[in-house]
Amino acid sequence: MSAVEADVAASAPVAERDSAAGHAEVATARLARVGDIEVRRLLPLRRRRSVGPWCFADHYGPASVDGVAGMDVPPHPHIGLQTVTWLIEGDVLHRDSLGSEQMIRPGQLNLMTAGRGIAHSEESPADHGPSLHGVQLWLALRERDRQAAPAFEHHARLPAAGFGGLRATIFAGALAGVSSPARVFSPLVGAEISAPGDASGTLPLVPGHEHVVFAALGPARVEDAGRAVDVAPGTLLYLGSGRDRVTVSAPAGARLFLLGGEPLGETLLMWWNFVGRTPKDIEAAARDWQRAERRFGTVAGYRGARLAAPPLDTARLVARP
Ligand code: MN
Repeated sequence: MSAVEADVAASAPVAERDSAAGHAEVATARLARVGDIEVRRLLPLRRRRSVGPWCFADHYGPASVDGVAGMDVPPHPHIGLQTVTWLIEGDVLHRDSLGSEQMIRPGQLNLMTAGRGIAHSEESPADHGPSLHGVQLWLALRERDRQAAPAFEHHARLPAAGFGGLRATIFAGALAGVSSPARVFSPLVGAEISAPGDASGTLPLVPGHEHVVFAALGPARVEDAGRAVDVAPGTLLYLGSGRDRVTVSAPAGARLFLLGGEPLGETLLMWWNFVGRTPKDIEAAARDWQRAERRFGTVAGYRGARLAAPPLDTARLVARP
């Protein structure tokens, strides 16, 4: 998916923030639109730019797409990140400039490594199901990895583990020693947690990593230093680092997400669909896309025009740690 607004966002080195904070904090999503789809933007938020390498998180739906076109995000570019597409309901067709064409369904992972540059489209297929519900996440690539060759992976089956009455599907990184086969570039976790019945469980965390929990269907209740914090859809619970576990309770049918990782320790400059470090990175990417340079390639098979980059106000392109 694509961040359609011209959002200038910067991420402070985590070591300088509140990594020693004792209490969890709840943040509220911003509402945004991606084409015709309304999304809850959970990252970046003004006070919370990234969590480990996770620098962008949109949650959309559940929404009826019965009898309408549904998702339609025309070809657009990315640099410096990996996109993680995960569905709870529905189906989405991905095409990219490497020639990939891949349908994704609930429980499967589409992982696209943009590296130095890629373009893709995402749309509901013509014969799509009646409902759409999912998340779109970005992983920032570190300085040493951000010029990596573009790549695309689809994983139809992912490992799962039980924690009390909860079941976690590990789509990225590792949780409790269970690892996703998807290629990522730094130590992290991305897991979907479901509650087949009313359930609670304790998930182990890596104390040196920072973590968040959010609910796609909920609410969930998270134990935090003797108090209980409710996490409803549209909110994000920042757990910080220094924890070795988190205990979660959720009603039957809940779907939660646990995201975390080793703090990046790098200041990001995010604009539109680009993650860079300097205004020059962003200007060059925007120019290359507008000029249809080979860097981003061409998305074959999409019926329609590609997205134009929004106007670039270089004066606002300042990293704000
Ligand atoms: Mn995208």
